[in-house]
Amino acid sequence: MQVARNKVVTISYEVSEKGKGKLEDGTLDYLHGFKNLMPTLEKFLADKKEGFSGKVEMGPRDAFGEINPELVMQIPKTQLEKPEEIKAGMQIELESEEGIIPALVTGVGDNEISVDGNHPYAGKTIMFDVKVVKVRDASAEELAHGHAHGAHGHHH
Ligand code: ZN
Repeated sequence: MQVARNKVVTISYEVSEKGKGKLEDGTLDYLHGFKNLMPTLEKFLADKKEGFSGKVEMGPRDAFGEINPELVMQIPKTQLEKPEEIKAGMQIELESEEGIIPALVTGVGDNEISVDGNHPYAGKTIMFDVKVVKVRDASAEELAHGHAHGAHGHHH
């Protein structure tokens, strides 16, 4: 079977930073044609058959975004609920106009903390090594929800 709209596709992947090395790998199921993957990756996988493997390179804009300097911030400790519990390397949640964004604490000073709300892979040129493990028809329920259910997918 080949990858097409309304198919559930199992892929295995390795994400690396171009010229640097591996960032992570994994397996996932996704429903093709419903914007559940990065558009460039989804387009790359269209019409591929089970067993296909290939590499796709993506600049930051197509992958995890450019680094946004506005997300690198100093926050006064007076604005934090429990400043004594915050340590460098922790992941915290910031409230912004666009909702909650996860941010990494990059430093803790006497009166303020430094945080970086950029995605950890922001600004990187990413190589995806991807393999089409399995392709199957989506169930009516999956189509209604707009995402894959199952072993590596989404449960509810
Ligand atoms: Zn669902």
